[in-house]
Amino acid sequence: ATPVALVAGTGRGSQLGILLSGPQVLEEARGVDAVILDKTGTLTEGRMALAAVTVAAPSGEPLPAGLSPERALALAGAAEDGSEHPIARAIADAARAGWTRPSAAAQSDEAAPSGTLPTPVAGEAAHSGGAAPSGSLLPATGFVSSAGGGVAATVDGHAVVLGKADHLVAAGVPVGPEALAALATAEEAGATAVLLGVDGAVAAVLSVTDTVKPSSAAGVAALRELGVTPWLVTGDNAAVAGAVAAEVGISPEHVVAGVRPEGKVERVRALQAAGRRVAMVGDGVNDAPALAAADLGLAMGAGTDVARASADIELMGSSVKQVAQAIGLSRATLKIIR
Ligand code: ADP
Ligand code: MG
Repeated sequence: ATPVALVAGTGRGSQLGILLSGPQVLEEARGVDAVILDKTGTLTEGRMALAAVTVAAPSGEPLPAGLSPERALALAGAAEDGSEHPIARAIADAARAGWTRPSAAAQSDEAAPSGTLPTPVAGEAAHSGGAAPSGSLLPATGFVSSAGGGVAATVDGHAVVLGKADHLVAAGVPVGPEALAALATAEEAGATAVLLGVDGAVAAVLSVTDTVKPSSAAGVAALRELGVTPWLVTGDNAAVAGAVAAEVGISPEHVVAGVRPEGKVERVRALQAAGRRVAMVGDGVNDAPALAAADLGLAMGAGTDVARASADIELMGSSVKQVAQAIGLSRATLKIIR
């Protein structure tokens, strides 16, 4: 390849908001025939909003910690303040805004399509503490984040853990059948749901929802036109993953849900072992290892610093359409050269 052509291609890329870490990236992009797309923040806006706080199992039994929804959210929001994950931002913002449970008038059974309306718990008055004043969060210390799992912190003197069931179990919070049933109910309603543990017991299921970017379906279609197979690999649950895949046009057999960050790397390697040249597209800390393992790593410009540092290409428009443009650009540049 002539340096002049590669430099010209690099310049064309930057005009399109496709920033290459070096001209050699154009050669790395050339043979890509499989693209793994992260969900949250890549195919979706990554701007999640809190939808429900559930403190009881579907049977109506209170979850073991027996907290009110307001208290549960206040503890959760403070623990999430140190995380830049979209789930964390949704929960911390809602806690700061003093999110309140739906009014009593809205609490008839008919008004609860998801079955996750918060249920006031008998005896909740026995638990001291409540929400922080509106606009602020409770004090948190000892924040720890585990990518693709969740967070933990000490809030208002309580041990708070938030995330997937196995993340709570690893932190010493037993997750019983009533908590798993409440989690499943929230996920079946199409939400991304996480568990809250307080002082060693499950206190709530928090549901958040996100929206698919308007450009994602066109981006996936453009990849297919280039002969590239699109995959969706996510840490989120299968119900949400399937719904997003259907909306953007990814085949169900190319959807992998519920994976840890190492699971994204394993999928990259499995496709490489099958003879594919693999691009990975992501935005999060959880995507960084797979971005580095792929033949070509592309990070959303709106993504985390870690993801951008692990990638070969930064997409300033944060759009899947730009993934197809980057591959097209490399093919056009190298066709001129060879
Ligand atoms: P994605 O692949 O969709 O970007 P992640 O790998 O970042 O998802 O997260 C996977 C799952 O881990 C989330 O759906 C959630 O259950 C849990 N999780 C990750 N980070 C957090 C957090 N800050 N708070 C609560 N749960 C989290
Ligand atoms: Mg993501």
